[in-house]
Amino acid sequence: MNSYKVIIIGGGASGLFVATMLGKKLGGQVAILERNDRVGKKLLATGNGQGNIGNENFSLSCYRGDQELISSVFEKAPQSKILAFMQSIGVLTSADDRGRIYPISRQASSVLEMLRSAYLSQGVKEIVNAEVTAINKTQGGYILSSKAGEFFAQNVIFAVGGKSGNGFGTDGSAFELLRSLGHSVSPLFPSLVALKADMTFLKNLKGARIEGKIWVDKKPNICEKGDVLFTDSGISGDSTFKLSARIPQKFPCKCYIDFLPSFTQEALDELLVVKAKAHRFTSLELLISVVHKQLAKNILRMIGVGENTPSDVAVAVKCAKVIKGFPITVVGTAGFGVSQVTKGGIPAKEASMNLESKFAHSVYICGEALDVDGDCGGYNLQWAFASATVVAQSILQRS
Ligand SMILES: Cc1cc2nc3c(=O)[nH]c(=O)nc-3n(C[C@H](O)[C@H](O)[C@H](O)COP(=O)(O)OP(=O)(O)OC[C@H]3O[C@@H](n4cnc5c(N)ncnc54)[C@H](O)[C@@H]3O)c2cc1C
Repeated sequence: MNSYKVIIIGGGASGLFVATMLGKKLGGQVAILERNDRVGKKLLATGNGQGNIGNENFSLSCYRGDQELISSVFEKAPQSKILAFMQSIGVLTSADDRGRIYPISRQASSVLEMLRSAYLSQGVKEIVNAEVTAINKTQGGYILSSKAGEFFAQNVIFAVGGKSGNGFGTDGSAFELLRSLGHSVSPLFPSLVALKADMTFLKNLKGARIEGKIWVDKKPNICEKGDVLFTDSGISGDSTFKLSARIPQKFPCKCYIDFLPSFTQEALDELLVVKAKAHRFTSLELLISVVHKQLAKNILRMIGVGENTPSDVAVAVKCAKVIKGFPITVVGTAGFGVSQVTKGGIPAKEASMNLESKFAHSVYICGEALDVDGDCGGYNLQWAFASATVVAQSILQRS
């Protein structure tokens, strides 16, 4: 049986980062076991293939989960440290006007290539097609059973991700390994994902991308601005992704969209009333040039006014109200398969501030497997790298 000082289960963002950090000092005593036929499959898909690895507008409020643990991790592994490390292995980065940090090449593959180049040259072993199926405590460490055979490790790092994007090897099954060590798993939900909605007043909008502000009924603080992309089963786009991270996981859930957030209600009322008074416009004509035409048709259907009915002040005011608060019933999410990140996971209280398991000595957990999820825009990779850094520091301090 091959023995290692450290075995990392999972060759994703956090696993490859921790391997590189450990490799410098521990080199050939470190191995990565990855279930896929190659490491970093998900990393390659991040940021639409461009690799959005962090965000300059970082703040703790961009994360859900135990705030004490999150702030402790980012104190030990601030963004400057992650970027300096990236630079040290040859990954040069720049940020766009929204603070999103990418490799200058705008290729996620650059990050993967430079990480691999660093840890492979340090002697870290990369073993693929090696799904770990069991972990058992033994004297001085753990025996890992995998599809590539049995391995012994003094220290084990769980960098197994969550349940999102099962096509990348993350289907949530690895949580069973952690359960076998005594851990619990807090309820898992897909986040940064499209939402399914009641399509009654949305059907003809498929493919339309409209700028708006969307919020949850009676929870005006759960509110996001940006693109709303209409799909054949609901809504997607920037604002929807952001909303999905905060929406209460109880469906159906009533939401509203403000399609003209830059106008106050009074200003829009006045605009439409003036237009209605100016000519004998039909009700549809009243809304044309104000909102997307298909949306205009839906608004009129919703308020029970015919498209060819002559517009008047009452119609103008009713339409203005719906444009500023278009009701939409969200009936669920598009699911784990297409979500970018998982809410839930190993509860913070089951890990020390060094991210060591409280149930299994010398077992560490990093990345999305922990019950921490971030906003869209580079925050989840930033968490993966920061938590990996903390684990590497903990192991190196003990070595
Ligand atoms: C399409 C897509 C785009 C994204 N874009 C961005 C972005 O631009 N910016 C951003 O910040 N975040 C993005 N994310 C989220 C980000 O990729 C994840 O949060 C991050 O990769 C999590 O890192 P991780 O190391 O915890 O897990 P992962 O990167 O998911 O890696 C886990 C690895 O463990 C392996 N594994 C699982 N179980 C086992 C087992 N039993 N044995 C062996 N191996 C196992 C898996 O095959 C996988 O390779 C995106 C996600 C997706 C799906």
